[in-house]
Amino acid sequence: MRHVEIFNLVKSYPNPFGAAFDAVVDFNLNIEEGEFVGLIGHSGCGKSTVLTMLAGLNEISDGGIVVAGREIDGAGPDRAVVFQSPCLMPWMSAFGNVMLGVANVYPHATKAQRKQIVEYALSSVGLQDAMDKYPREMSGGMQQRVGIARAIALKPKVLLLDEPFGRLDSLTRMELQDVILEILNREKITTVLVSHDVDEVVFLCDRVVMMTNGPAATIGEILAIDFPKPRDRADMMKDPLYFQCLDHLVSFLTERAHLRTEPRIHDSTSLLTFTGKKVETTSHQNHAVA
Ligand code: ADP
Repeated sequence: MRHVEIFNLVKSYPNPFGAAFDAVVDFNLNIEEGEFVGLIGHSGCGKSTVLTMLAGLNEISDGGIVVAGREIDGAGPDRAVVFQSPCLMPWMSAFGNVMLGVANVYPHATKAQRKQIVEYALSSVGLQDAMDKYPREMSGGMQQRVGIARAIALKPKVLLLDEPFGRLDSLTRMELQDVILEILNREKITTVLVSHDVDEVVFLCDRVVMMTNGPAATIGEILAIDFPKPRDRADMMKDPLYFQCLDHLVSFLTERAHLRTEPRIHDSTSLLTFTGKKVETTSHQNHAVA
């Protein structure tokens, strides 16, 4: 079932001289319920622009976004965002930081019910023994766990991850990637991840959307990552398909990201996919958007 429909999305920013500059154009993408989609591209191509429009935090210049059958108009608790920096309230404990959003989103829940939601979210990210810690007492990885708990506690329809592991060392990053996968295997939340890390998107995602370079960035290609779930990092890294996926992403980024593409809708019938060990490219079709 189509859960997120992004149609003809355009973002124009004013440049320093007041004229409009198109950062993203003709961005068309359908995402299935429970799907994990990665957005990858060169720095400055427009990944965060697309994500923040999905979050409702960045005004849409043209086109639109439909989530669960309703066109979005601003931010809402149905779409939770995890940014690179969790921006926790320094005077609140981990529990307090997660409770802040929960109290807003579940105003009619009892105190005991809210407490249970917060404790469950913090336990899901492995912080069951650190709920009373303050941000100053937590490592960067622990703080980001709180950021993830804060997002999933809202039980969002869509989880938006904007380079959430970008500031973490590689071991902590791997730990948190595992945490995210465990949560999503259980909760099946539709997720969009912005990343510039090819290993990360191959490990985590069902599909990777490769964006062309800006200005006027759009979707260049889409790669289906056909590894079964739940995924095991060690097993995946022994599979030649993993390296084929990495190779495909790197070759797009180095050789084809600068090429212009024709506008089109991308969904599960229109993608570049790996079948077995052979790379197979299905032809893209142009679709009119009703
Ligand atoms: P990415 O996330 O891929 O690094 P961004 O979405 O942050 O890229 O930026 C895409 C383009 O839009 C860049 O050229 C950037 O300078 C520009 N941009 C982003 N935000 C603004 C803004 N608020 N005002 C003007 N230009 C912006």
